[in-house]
Amino acid sequence: MKFYDLQSINAKYASELKQVAAEVIDSGWYILGERVRKFEEELSAYMGCRHAIAVGNGLDALRLILKGYIELGILCEGDEVIVPANTYIASVLAITDNRLVPVFVEPDEKTFNLDIDQIEQSLTSRTKAIMVVHLFGRTCWTDKLKQIAETHNLKIIEDNAQAIGAKSTICGFSDSFRTGALGHAAGISFYPTKNLGALGDAGAVTTNDGELAHMVRSLANYGSFQKYVHTSCGLNSRMSEMQAAFLLVKLKYLDEENEMRRVITSRYSELITSRDIILPQIPKSSGEHVWHQYVIRCNRRDELQHYLKERGIDTQIHYPIPPHKQACYRQYNKVHLPITEQLSEEILSIPLSSNMRKEDISNLGEILNLF
Ligand SMILES: *Cc1c(COP(=O)(O)O)cnc(C)c1O
Repeated sequence: MKFYDLQSINAKYASELKQVAAEVIDSGWYILGERVRKFEEELSAYMGCRHAIAVGNGLDALRLILKGYIELGILCEGDEVIVPANTYIASVLAITDNRLVPVFVEPDEKTFNLDIDQIEQSLTSRTKAIMVVHLFGRTCWTDKLKQIAETHNLKIIEDNAQAIGAKSTICGFSDSFRTGALGHAAGISFYPTKNLGALGDAGAVTTNDGELAHMVRSLANYGSFQKYVHTSCGLNSRMSEMQAAFLLVKLKYLDEENEMRRVITSRYSELITSRDIILPQIPKSSGEHVWHQYVIRCNRRDELQHYLKERGIDTQIHYPIPPHKQACYRQYNKVHLPITEQLSEEILSIPLSSNMRKEDISNLGEILNLF
């Protein structure tokens, strides 16, 4: 069993995708056109936030938010940003690329998400923002997080690369909100393997902050609001019309896709009974999970991965080396983050995609129970 089978995932939508691809080709307009505008409209309506800006990829979405805050004078070089230590490196690269300082905070080992109870002890006079990551598809949001941000005047930036479609309640509101509309600004990735995957690189920024949205839009287009007039040193990070056309097709099916993921993971959670394996917690309270990954834990992880491989099942590790242990972050290599480091040795992501058949799921469950 392949870990991802993008061919069969996209095969479901192939006739619609081919149709819109032909329309883009024939239109003769490939960058910043009507499809990108329409996708931005539909995305912001879906997310329940005022603005969506389509950009080149998920890393750029996060970089552009932070760069936007710097241009607006809300952040400045050397400011500290809280970030979960077990995230994908992109969250951290967005921070360091803007000459801001990442402050690694341990995750809660039950949810894999930033341990909100450990934020306050990591705050200093330079802390200006918290980057929450809805890791593996699980919403990282509590009333306490919002209170901390309000008390200390911090921006909450959501790395929403893995949790598009999940909902959470916010204290003081009766309705629930989608990830990406919870904090001050959010970055999404439409990398092909994500829950809403394009057929190439693509990303978006979502926010209710009109000033930030305006700034990000300009920064993503060479720092220009008006052609050939440059107010800041921007970059080129635009979503293409082709990717916007594909995403307009696939956005319609996102809730359905996420629901199929929920069905598969609840089946896994019933089937897998091995005492050597710790299953991911199914959320009980308000914050939803859209199951970008189904991550199990085992203290003989490498052995388990090898065992599955021999039986034809591909798995992955998200992530084997935490950012602070990477060679590119030598200055943090000596920092000790025991929970993050232990998790990186025990976690294993097993196949999970909406096209899995019932037999694949039960077969995998049986094999795991025989380990
Ligand atoms: C995928 C991902 C990103 C980056 O997205 P790209 O589109 O690959 O640049 C950022 N953060 C997290 C948590 C991700 O999973």
